[in-house]
Amino acid sequence: MKNNILKVVTILGARPQFIKAGSVSREISKYDELEEVIVHTGQHFDENMSDIFFDEMKIQKPQYNLGINGKSHGAMTGQMLEKIEEILVKEKPDWVMVYGDTNSTLAGALAASKLHIKIAHVEAGLRSFNMKMPEEVNRILTDRVSSILFCPTDSAIKNLNNEGFQNIFTCKIVKNGDVMQDGAIFYSEFAKKPDNLHVEKYILSTIHRVENTDDDKRLTSIVDALNEISKNIPIVLPLHPRTKNILKERKNVLSENIHVIDPVGYLEMVWLIQHSSLIMTDSGGLQKEAFFFHKPCITLRDETEWVELVEHNYNVLVGADTSKILDTYHKHVFNTQYDIDLYGQGKASEEIVKSLLTFDEHRK
Ligand code: UDP
Repeated sequence: MKNNILKVVTILGARPQFIKAGSVSREISKYDELEEVIVHTGQHFDENMSDIFFDEMKIQKPQYNLGINGKSHGAMTGQMLEKIEEILVKEKPDWVMVYGDTNSTLAGALAASKLHIKIAHVEAGLRSFNMKMPEEVNRILTDRVSSILFCPTDSAIKNLNNEGFQNIFTCKIVKNGDVMQDGAIFYSEFAKKPDNLHVEKYILSTIHRVENTDDDKRLTSIVDALNEISKNIPIVLPLHPRTKNILKERKNVLSENIHVIDPVGYLEMVWLIQHSSLIMTDSGGLQKEAFFFHKPCITLRDETEWVELVEHNYNVLVGADTSKILDTYHKHVFNTQYDIDLYGQGKASEEIVKSLLTFDEHRK
């Protein structure tokens, strides 16, 4: 700590991380004794996958942009590690803050741990128990080297307990709630309708997870189900660049009642969620946002890290099987009582900042 200023280097690189870090940055900026330096790895780089979030959500612009993208997992993580290390050596922060489970998360955590800089992991303790997911590997390794693990849910804490974190490792575990709920509450009044969208009642869908996009059978099965459902109700599909390219390559045809649009900014996304009648997604964040905005959710995955949504019947896991998707769409009766606090009611960022400011006091 220099001149009593606690310096935090935030590492981010992917769309959901801009949204999560946005709320924490807003909280950090309220404190004179905190300084934040943002490093954007460049993992997501299109205007509508990156810049739009910093502009619309008024997030502090990154001081560094590493421009690392479009490479294999190993090459990307390795190059990020090297560049982040250089920045950390120069910036000498007290904390490195990483979010979620991307290659940027892991590279940031590894670089910091080798320089003995304290790491705060936001969205710690989540598990899908599917080691084939790159995200699962990233989050497990990041948790292991972190000094503070900010857990959004009870099940995240339970996962860490089961892995021996409480007893064996010297880390602090905090249940702080979900920073995405902070963002959903703060930005909901700024929601804006996407241009040129002329549908009223619709289902909102997103598909981008590698286990779906890179598996021909699963992707075709999902497309078949969406095409069938779109005979009843329009589907709005803000399409992730990866999914767009793969659908084009494989010549999968989407029905006319599926309104494919480019990925939108967060304010447009909030509007789309608010006005939808159902969410169908393989996104992690969107499953929770469905709950925040009181919308039922069908999840196009075999497992979820957000198990409490399934336990309380706000969300149904259907995988990628056409008949299961259709059956759930036609027959499932969802819970419509949303008066339960699963994610901390918008105080997660406040809790993070408080914990960072008092961490060393507790260690004395
Ligand atoms: N999102 C967005 N625009 C879009 C699609 C998604 O702003 O066109 C937001 C969404 O509301 C959520 C976050 O991006 O807050 C989720 O990101 P993504 O699905 O890419 O990642 P995941 O949550 O699965 O890690």
